[in-house]
Amino acid sequence: MKPLDAASLPEGTRLEAEVVVVGAGAAGVTVARELARSGREVLLIDGGAELPDPAIQALHELEAVGVPLRPGHSPRLREFGGTCNLWAGRAMRLTPEDLVARPSVPDGAWPIPWSELEALYPEAERILGLPGPGAFDPASWLARASPDERRLFDPDRLVPTVSLWAPKPRRFARDFRHELASLERLRVLLRAQAVRLLQDESGVRVRAVALRVLGGPALEAVGRHVVLACGGLENARLLLLSTDRDARGIGNAHGLVGRFFMDHPRAVWGRVELRPGVVLRMLRGRPVPGGKVQLGIALAPALRRARGLLHHHATLEDEHSEYARERYDFAVRLGKRVLRRGHAGARFDFRGVSAGRLPETIYLLTPKEILPHPLYRLMWALRERLPRRPRPERLVVVHFCEQPPDAESRVTLGERRDALGLPLLRLDWRIQPSVVEGMRALEEELGERLARTGLGRLVPGSGEPRFTDASHHMGTTRMGVDPRTSVVDPDGRVHGMANLWIAGSSVFPSGGHANPTLTIVALALRLARRLAHASRLS
Ligand SMILES: Cc1cc2nc3c(=O)[nH]c(=O)nc-3n(C[C@H](O)[C@H](O)[C@H](O)COP(=O)(O)OP(=O)(O)OC[C@H]3O[C@@H](n4cnc5c(N)ncnc54)[C@H](O)[C@@H]3O)c2cc1C
Repeated sequence: MKPLDAASLPEGTRLEAEVVVVGAGAAGVTVARELARSGREVLLIDGGAELPDPAIQALHELEAVGVPLRPGHSPRLREFGGTCNLWAGRAMRLTPEDLVARPSVPDGAWPIPWSELEALYPEAERILGLPGPGAFDPASWLARASPDERRLFDPDRLVPTVSLWAPKPRRFARDFRHELASLERLRVLLRAQAVRLLQDESGVRVRAVALRVLGGPALEAVGRHVVLACGGLENARLLLLSTDRDARGIGNAHGLVGRFFMDHPRAVWGRVELRPGVVLRMLRGRPVPGGKVQLGIALAPALRRARGLLHHHATLEDEHSEYARERYDFAVRLGKRVLRRGHAGARFDFRGVSAGRLPETIYLLTPKEILPHPLYRLMWALRERLPRRPRPERLVVVHFCEQPPDAESRVTLGERRDALGLPLLRLDWRIQPSVVEGMRALEEELGERLARTGLGRLVPGSGEPRFTDASHHMGTTRMGVDPRTSVVDPDGRVHGMANLWIAGSSVFPSGGHANPTLTIVALALRLARRLAHASRLS
């Protein structure tokens, strides 16, 4: 069935389904698909349309009062398919130690065992179309690394991390469009903005989701179960806006909704000068059959534990990489806009790109995006064969940092209102001193290894690092066993509510350094299975 446009429905329409999923990004599409495939009747609702709509996108504006966000970027999208219409597709796994409380992350324990997440990852990886299986094992890539890079690593000091990309980043609306349309028990409703959750008299059940269309009708969606999958910030906003029975909002009896906001602070800090002739293959990232891989660098777990350090990793990038975006020249941008094909695919319907979206569009259109995968691999292979005059090479060290959960780093409802009259979010993002301490330790170790192995030298970052966010919004409805310290239970159900569930990175109690979307998809699969079981019982 084709998606239904909420604007075409009469005022007061009430739509019913066994499960109502609000938000059709990576999390919502995964939950809805999994549930519908197991025979549940699902209504998947999104506020966005099939193409970007500036008036709808403006509902996502936010006021950043803490550490500023990346200028010129939308940190999230309100459109069918969600922010993955824009994401860069880098996937990483969390590690077992990320799930446990450590001296550097005392409040970060996950209430689920590593074995459960580990069992879910392979399916999540298939959903994202990543190379595999087993491609997250660093040993297999180290075997293909150059002798120089192998010398850099030492299991007791400096270890490799693995990032993977699919040949094309998964665009959830576009890539699953046909399947979603073919699932008999699934309906998709677009341009319907969830504005509030309405509770029944018991206060423990959501009776309906109140929906509004911009300049159009008010509607209601009713389900035996409701899943919020509106993204790491908007999930919290909806709970805070739902004040019919409690002025603090739903699930907020202990004032935790919106708190513990985390991102992955990233910064270009030190520089590496390689000795002439040193070859780095896997550390610079390379296309492989079925996608792309890049090794990164992290301190060995034992070393971090002994020194109470956070779990950061860093990559080495050419100075003209995306991280030094200002060096992109105009001709390249123009060429990319004109080509508008390949990796980025049909998403680049330029009718939808306004001047304001240009920086983020350019961000995506790298050769990896534009070229079909086999051509991209060929380009690499040829580039590597070109004879080069040995000369010292300079690379930048790009840090991707873990941050400890901090109750003062948070979102609240602000003063400004959106076009529906609802308060916009106010984001007070904090970065703790331990983040910089971990970066220094990583650079010190890297510098020592480079010197000891004769591969080159590190010019450490000086002054304070200039952080940007990574649009990884985590922690605002954290998961835990105890309702006094968490918002959702280990299954993803809001504490004290019988039929309200949350999917997405807002439930992460801590975030490691791994980009979140792979884990979002893994947890969405888990939630769908829990919910399929629960809905059989209620
Ligand atoms: C430039 C950029 C690059 C990124 N690169 C990476 C990367 O390389 N790797 C990685 O892991 N992550 C990356 N991310 C983050 C990644 O995009 C997110 O983790 C992921 O999209 C989150 O999925 P989600 O489904 O939880 O939320 P979203 O994708 O934000 O989906 C939420 C959905 O809910 C809808 N919605 C929101 N509020 C309402 C409402 N009130 N009513 C109705 N519908 C609503 C929205 O329209 C949207 O479709 C990147 C993000 C950006 C901005």
